[in-house]
Amino acid sequence: MKTIYQPYSVEYFEEVTVDIQLLTVIGTQQEADDVANSTYNVRLFPDRLTFQLEGEKSLVTLRKERLFFELCTKPQPEPIDLSTYSHDQIMALFHDPDRIMTPDDYKKMDWTAQDAYRYLIERYTPKNKEGYFAFDSLAYRVDEVKEAYKMGTCDVCEKENVPLKKAHDGFDVYIVDVCAPSCQLT
Ligand SMILES: [Zn+2]
Repeated sequence: MKTIYQPYSVEYFEEVTVDIQLLTVIGTQQEADDVANSTYNVRLFPDRLTFQLEGEKSLVTLRKERLFFELCTKPQPEPIDLSTYSHDQIMALFHDPDRIMTPDDYKKMDWTAQDAYRYLIERYTPKNKEGYFAFDSLAYRVDEVKEAYKMGTCDVCEKENVPLKKAHDGFDVYIVDVCAPSCQLT
């Protein structure tokens, strides 16, 4: 029997992190890890958050349901120049409580991409002329999906708050959420 996995990528810009719910995988843990650990660009524009797989041209706009924002409430330590540090000083940094973040330091935010952009633009200046914030990858995680049915937004017709079922999108391991029974994938 195949197992359903839900991979997430954890991305950050300064004190804002976002867990991105990627396409669901039916297959092995390794296949789910590979999806979560692939290389992509995440950009936050004033009105949307986009996702671009390395080597692909198209930017995919991610819906709010796939984005889970958190804010680190602990003040960020000053950036340091490691080249001026001895080995012992660098090792000591790993135990410096000011530089260790725990889950308690993060607050869940019920944000849309627009909300997150409004927060960041008041504090930081985008480093590109298009005006987006480029997020960096922090980690990934893979959850095993126990519940096959849930309420949410159909990946095909975008109807909201409908019962969803999993469907193959034509590739081997990727599956998407479609509203049962009306939407079908070919
Ligand atoms: Zn649908």
